[in-house]
Parts: sequence; C-alpha cells; structure tokens
Amino acid sequence: MNKLAICGGTPVRTKLFPAYNTIGEEEKRAVLTVLESGNLSQFLGAWHKDFYGGPYVQAFEKEWSTLFKVKHTISVNSNTSGLFAAIGACGIQPGDEVIVSPYTMSAGAIAPLIYGAVPVFADIDIDNFGLDPASIERCITPRTKAILVVHIFGNPSKMNEVMQIARKHNLTVIEDCAQAPMAMYKDKLVGTIGHIGVFSLNYHKHVHTGEGGVVVTNDDLLAEKLFLIRNHGEQVVEAKGTLDLLNTQGFNYRMTEIAAAIGIEQLKKLPGLLVERRKNIDYLTNGFEQIQGLTAPLVEQGNTHAYYVHPLKYDQSLFSGVHRNRYVDALKAELPSAVMREDTPLIGAGYVKPLYLQPIYQQRISACSFNCPRYTGQVSYAPGICPNAEQLHYNELITHEFMRPGMSTLDLMDVINAFQKVAENIKELIQ
Ligand SMILES: *Cc1c(COP(=O)(O)O)cnc(C)c1O
Repeated sequence: MNKLAICGGTPVRTKLFPAYNTIGEEEKRAVLTVLESGNLSQFLGAWHKDFYGGPYVQAFEKEWSTLFKVKHTISVNSNTSGLFAAIGACGIQPGDEVIVSPYTMSAGAIAPLIYGAVPVFADIDIDNFGLDPASIERCITPRTKAILVVHIFGNPSKMNEVMQIARKHNLTVIEDCAQAPMAMYKDKLVGTIGHIGVFSLNYHKHVHTGEGGVVVTNDDLLAEKLFLIRNHGEQVVEAKGTLDLLNTQGFNYRMTEIAAAIGIEQLKKLPGLLVERRKNIDYLTNGFEQIQGLTAPLVEQGNTHAYYVHPLKYDQSLFSGVHRNRYVDALKAELPSAVMREDTPLIGAGYVKPLYLQPIYQQRISACSFNCPRYTGQVSYAPGICPNAEQLHYNELITHEFMRPGMSTLDLMDVINAFQKVAENIKELIQ
C-alpha cells in the first residue's frame, strides 16, 4: 500500500501544483497606460534631465527608495547588470581581487572578471549558506578590494562580521539580494547594510518585471558612478563635471518605462507575498519536523528569511545510509507534477555546482584577470577549495520551492506526505 512510487507504488500526487504568477489586472492597466502614452523609454545618454530616465523609471526608483529606506535607487535591466555596475562603481581594476561566493547564481563571480579583476572564492557557512566570515578572512590579500556577499535562498548572511572585516581591511561590500528582498538582518533591511545592494526583477524572483534589476546605496559618490555606468557615462562626465573618471565608461543597463510601470505595481504586492511565503513555510516546517534527519535553515534572532528557496539539510546517517540523491529521486517520483514547473524543477538535490568548478575558472578563460600582467596573486580554483560548498552541494542539501504563494493547505499537505512517505519507507531504497 505504501510502496514508494520510485519502486512501482502509487505516487502521492499527480495533479499539477498551482503556477506562481504575480502579474494581474494592476500590471495590465499600468502597461496599457504606458503603451497609450507612446513613451516606452525616455533615457538620453547625455547630461540632460532625461539622463535619469522617464516618469515611470523615476517613480519606481522613488517607491523603491521609500520601501527599502535607502537614499539612492538606480533601476537597471537585470541583477547581473546591477552587479557589473556595482563592481565598476567601487573602482575595481585589473590586478584587484574580489571575494565572492561559490554557491550562487554565476553572475556574482563574473562581475569582477568584467573589470579585469580576479574572483576569489571563500567558503560558505553551513547554517545559512552565505559567505563564512572566517573563510573570508583567510582569502584576504593586499589585492583584495571588495567582498560580494549573497543572501542566498533569502537568508541573510552574517553582515556584522562581514562589515567588521571590511572596515579592518578597507574593503567595499556589495550585497547580492536577488533572493532576499526585504529580508532583515538584525532588524535592518539587507542591501542597505553594505555599501551597495543589488536586487533582481527577473521572472523567477519574488516579484518581477520579466527582466530587471535594482541597485541601492546610501553613498552619493557610489550613486553617481552607478548612474554613469548605467547610461553611457563617457558621454556625460564632461558636461556633468565628474572629477573621478575611474570606471565611468558606460553601458546601456537602462530599464524601460513598461518594466518600471510593472515594477511599481509589483512592489505594492511584495510585502503580502512575503507574508504568504512565511506562512507556507511555517506549515511545511511543522510537517517536516517529524522527519528525523532533515534540518530546516537556521534563521538567527533578529533576522527574517525571504524564502526564495527552502534549503533543507539531509543527514544520510539518519536515513539508513541512503544517499540524498536517492531520497530526492524518490520524492520526485511521489510528486511527478512538481518535477518541472515552466521548465524549473521545484525540488532539487543541491543547488548549483560550486562556481569555481565551471570551465571558465578551471581553464582560466579570460583576456585579463588571472592572466593579467598587473595581477601579482595566485588564485586557486582547485576542487576542494570550498569543502562546505562541495559537501552541501553533492551530499547534504535539498532545495525546494513549495512555499510559493498560491499553494493551498491541501497542496502543502501533499508535499509533507511525500517527504514523510519516502522517509518512512527509506529501507526500500537501500540498494
Ligand atoms: C537571479 C539571480 C541573479 C541574476 O539575476 P538577473 O536579474 O537574472 O540578472 C544573480 N544572483 C542571484 C543570487 C540570483 O538569484
């Protein structure tokens, strides 16, 4: 009766889970208004009032600044662009090193490469999966200029320790908040603790504009550089009277008026969507608690988790020695409808392969950076440099997205039943 689906039994559920969609009538109306105006972008790459974009772009930035309690908001066309702009704004040059996480979306480590600098991978913390402060310390050299912290899965990294290290070594701190909008660290919003915060508005994130991103800072000089990098700075600096020209050569990272109009509506929904994610997590956590060997993420006192992804740690010794991958395969068989949602798996064994294992680092493919004559260091990308990231990725971490808004209690119950069923019948998986 309880035979596991992977062994030929009946799956817990075959019905599709509800799709996650934050776009509604409000966004439709906003887009129509922009379309009817005929003004789909108002940016001008010159020192002119339109250097800062059109009415929706500026209104969106103003709303973002208010909600996130930050002085400057610079909208961009992706988080990736935002990370590139952030690295440029902190004056990174060939020969410099930037400490990055191996366990995140790949753009964080590419950003230093764009400016000819070298990404140095520090290991991750085994409780929150962000950078481990002790490992950051070990990575610091005279060439280190910045630390790029990622609040991965939505859980804040240890910012007090990171900022202390940064002050001691005079480093700039960039926070990648793509997965953690409005997450709190010691009662402060992440993204506003370091020098620059970067958010994503891509289609997979809590709220989105299709593609899009946001950079925030309380520092006037960094804000000026970010605006220049976003919009053809080299054409602007002379008339604007900018004195510090380092990295002011610009790109086109500009957001459209349509994206900004959608963004304004999405921002209004963000707090409610976070409440729903946390409510669903409470329900799931309660159900998972009875399963020996699965550990929910640690959220420290004073912090809140944005639950972009719910990472669970799997202790193989409490599952009769059955490997994590096998448990996840069995889970997927119990919830076959959850394996692909718009081509994205809702359950994963691990997250992303530790970034330094990608070919670009293994083969050191770069015109400058590691091969630059100005680079005097000897960065290592050898397998094993970040043992926590490798152990979590290959053996311990289970990630899932079942907390997405739109899930009903019955949907969540099916998820819990599947996790429990596989755990209770784990012996069927011993090979
Ligand atoms: C989504 C994501 C990015 C990239 O965002 P884009 O807006 O698609 O460029 C970068 N870092 C992290 C941690 C992300 O989750």
